[in-house]
Amino acid sequence: MDKIIIHIDMNSYFASVEQQANPLLRGKPIGITGKHGSIAMSGQRIKVNTDGVHDRSVITTASMEAKLLGVKTAMSTWEARKICPSLILWPGDPHKYSEITERFNKIYNDFTTKVEAFSVDESFLDVTEEAGDYFTATFIAQMIRARLRAECGEHITASIGIGPNKLMAKLASESMKPNGLTVTRPEDTLKLLDSRELDDLCGIGPRIKQRLNMLGVETFKQLREFPLDSLESEFNRYGTWLHEAAHGRDSNVIQSSTVHGLRGMSTETPKSYGHSYTLPRNTHDKLIVKRYLLGLADKVAWRMRRDNFAACRITAFIRYGDFSSHAEQRTFYIPTNDGHKLFQVAWQIIGNCFAGEPVRLVGLSASKLTHKPGQQSLFKKEQKIQSVLPALDSLQHRYGTGVWTRGSLVKTHFKQRSSGFHFDHLV
Ligand SMILES: [Mg+2]
Repeated sequence: MDKIIIHIDMNSYFASVEQQANPLLRGKPIGITGKHGSIAMSGQRIKVNTDGVHDRSVITTASMEAKLLGVKTAMSTWEARKICPSLILWPGDPHKYSEITERFNKIYNDFTTKVEAFSVDESFLDVTEEAGDYFTATFIAQMIRARLRAECGEHITASIGIGPNKLMAKLASESMKPNGLTVTRPEDTLKLLDSRELDDLCGIGPRIKQRLNMLGVETFKQLREFPLDSLESEFNRYGTWLHEAAHGRDSNVIQSSTVHGLRGMSTETPKSYGHSYTLPRNTHDKLIVKRYLLGLADKVAWRMRRDNFAACRITAFIRYGDFSSHAEQRTFYIPTNDGHKLFQVAWQIIGNCFAGEPVRLVGLSASKLTHKPGQQSLFKKEQKIQSVLPALDSLQHRYGTGVWTRGSLVKTHFKQRSSGFHFDHLV
């Protein structure tokens, strides 16, 4: 039986996330660059550049404006600049992208449990049961679009395709970029295929296209009429797939389990939230260590508040230049998700641990989690900070972490390493 599948593909994803976060980049040709970095999504590793603009690096994503001027993905920055001298090269920030990816996957999961994250910016949703017909499916797609706009930002747009299977939904979404919505009902699939080139279909690359061309097959219509046994003798089982695809058929089902592999998408309760950080240079300076610890505590606290948790236990740890280390725990009766509070307790633990060796790494981890909210502080100054936290949190939710910082941390920079921060560090 035919299904109703929605395919959602973010447009110029990394570039539009940067344009959403930074108004100065909007409406301008930008190219996301860097080298070596990567983010892991649903078992795949997707190359993302992080280490700044570099002559030998490539463009991982070009903004819509840059694409119009001829800049393409995988082009070297040198080549891209030659084509488009006004191109702004911008280092990628994998942490930011995976945060937004988590956000839109959460939205999709509100509409159906059958969600497959196909790549970092593409997902398939099976809405056969939820929608029942194409009219309702179109309505669902429009609601998803409205929520993406409200929760991820107006500059992050998506192309949406609806079809009777994954293959057709994806081909449909590619028909109108950016920000399109294309519906292909089962009776329209052949018309859609016949309007496209062979290698527009996901699964037919340039080499297969060339081999098909050599057999005299230039269009999907010719592919449909090509004898199945000849296709199979040329391409084996892939020949069967080509024959089915040319008829707009695809038996591939949604692999919804993959979505649970995404960070933050698990329905299981997390056991702890933690961050550790290797300092840029080993140091004896207590103030430097103190600042990094406060920054880490704020990060941990923000993630707990985002997921509606508070912790009753904190573990702080310190590692020295000779790789020896010290870790200790404290338990408290009133659960907290206040960064400054976490920091104070962590500093009580490691503030006295400055022995001979310089410090290499600091970290903290909050555990014994509960959904009970933290208690308001009795101190005026802390109360003031607590009262502005919800506003700061909503800013972080909209624009990503790093949108605000404490005055005392202005000079403390956390460099996003290619491996990211060490989440949920085990101690
Ligand atoms: Mg995309």
